Amino acid sequence: MVMPFLSRRPTVPAKDGASWPHVIILGGGFAGAHAVGALRDARVRVTLIDRNVYKTFQPLLYQVATAGLNPGDVTMFLRGLSLKVPNMRYRQGEVEGVDPERKVVSLNEGQKGQHEIGYDYLIVANGATTTYFGTPGAEEHAMPMYTRSQSLAIRDRIFSELERSSRESAYMHDKLHVCIVGGGPTGVEIAGALADFRLQELDILYPEMDPGTLQVTVLQRGGELIKEFSPHFREYAAEELEDRGVFLKLGHGVKSVGYDHVVLDDDSILESDITIWAAGVAIPDSVSEWGLPQDKRGRLAVDDYLQVKGHPGVYAAGDIAGQDDPLPQLAQPAIQMGQAAARAIAAEVAGKPRKAFKYTDLGTMATIGRHAAIAQIPHVGGLSGSVGWAAWLGVHITKMIGHRNQRAVAMNLLSLYGGTRATHQPNPVVGEVDSLRAAGIFERQAPNRKFGKGARAGGSDDQQAADAAPGAREVSDPVKD
Ligand SMILES: Cc1cc2nc3c(=O)[nH]c(=O)nc-3n(C[C@H](O)[C@H](O)[C@H](O)COP(=O)(O)OP(=O)(O)OC[C@H]3O[C@@H](n4cnc5c(N)ncnc54)[C@H](O)[C@@H]3O)c2cc1C
Repeated sequence: MVMPFLSRRPTVPAKDGASWPHVIILGGGFAGAHAVGALRDARVRVTLIDRNVYKTFQPLLYQVATAGLNPGDVTMFLRGLSLKVPNMRYRQGEVEGVDPERKVVSLNEGQKGQHEIGYDYLIVANGATTTYFGTPGAEEHAMPMYTRSQSLAIRDRIFSELERSSRESAYMHDKLHVCIVGGGPTGVEIAGALADFRLQELDILYPEMDPGTLQVTVLQRGGELIKEFSPHFREYAAEELEDRGVFLKLGHGVKSVGYDHVVLDDDSILESDITIWAAGVAIPDSVSEWGLPQDKRGRLAVDDYLQVKGHPGVYAAGDIAGQDDPLPQLAQPAIQMGQAAARAIAAEVAGKPRKAFKYTDLGTMATIGRHAAIAQIPHVGGLSGSVGWAAWLGVHITKMIGHRNQRAVAMNLLSLYGGTRATHQPNPVVGEVDSLRAAGIFERQAPNRKFGKGARAGGSDDQQAADAAPGAREVSDPVKD
């Protein structure tokens, strides 16, 4: 008898595997990694291609950005998938093209020469990417949070700016403004985590600094936060954030972003030392050159079997796939689509009929902060507060691929959230904090700054005026960037 904890499958492919049909999976995210898993018992050779050697659990990236988790806690080595799927091989590369006529994928592998790999079946699962909607200055000054390295950049910037501000706090009384553009789940989660950090840890770790120095503002074009949720949950999220001292600026779009400010669509200017972009995703432009049909939002148009329309053998899953009635770009749809596309290929290879894809809604969740989360679960109803938070914690830990990840996340979140304010011992996960470099950039940016010491771009040194309205300063005749 095989004891599951004492043995594992061999990672060598089957002896006759070389002649099996070749499946390329483009992208090892939620859809791609689960597609690999669903091909475990199929008589196919699988090549998983990703630019990164790891799969990212994006729902917890905000914890990396706010120093609650290590980056390795939310990423898992893709080669580890071969432990369960011996016929899978991983190949690192940047997919630059797909030629459905010749059935090849072209890769940039960092070396000269053409790198093409042929396939019998293809699953396109390369996800979406950040979009700035053409907002001037956003690409240069705002910090997106779509990848592990972007989350680390945010974390290191926050701590560098905190160190810089702490040196000046005694005589400058300058605030450190973090503006989060986008009031969807990601924006709400990062705002809540920063607010919790200020309430629980800032005064202990930075005793020389007034905790009110750190100001967190959420900017949202629409009039409400997290429109994916029902109205009373939207209100709950707004109240919880405001109770935690987060400023909400709703009903305003961002017109442009500068080094230390954002300009809103009514031409008011908000101070923003760190602008975090959590405002939207789009399909990468390069996909339009792949000769595959796209819907009006750029997603690959797929039929009921997730096959790309008009292209037998080519499937799409996850954020990049759009059925006639497209699913939200979330983890559960991606997981289920990845598994369904893989099962459709396994059926084709076995000469069996494919089953049409049917999505099972398992619910939607978002966390606002310590002991505050919301969950809408079909047949169960809505959960909020500590109950919702416990459900959110349980789901996020169990849904991770990789035992190490599950244990590490559980332990680190326990350290972060365990105990009370009186017993909590803060120990954020910090990295390369270079406040000297941050101070140098702050000085050099003086001509472009509107706030703070030495600002020369239309602002004044009068910080009291800037602080009159928390996080905001109305400017009747704004100086444009
Ligand atoms: C910050 C953040 C928080 C989120 N929070 C939640 C949440 O709480 N709940 C929820 O349900 N959803 C959440 N989402 C959405 C969820 O993460 C996505 O819907 C999901 O990741 C989509 O899965 P996917 O497999 O389609 O794409 P991804 O998971 O994005 O995977 C795509 C993969 O393709 C690779 N790739 C892309 N282009 C190429 C290329 N040209 N060549 C090689 N490799 C390539 C990438 O490296 C990546 O590994 C969040 C997303 C973000 C960014």
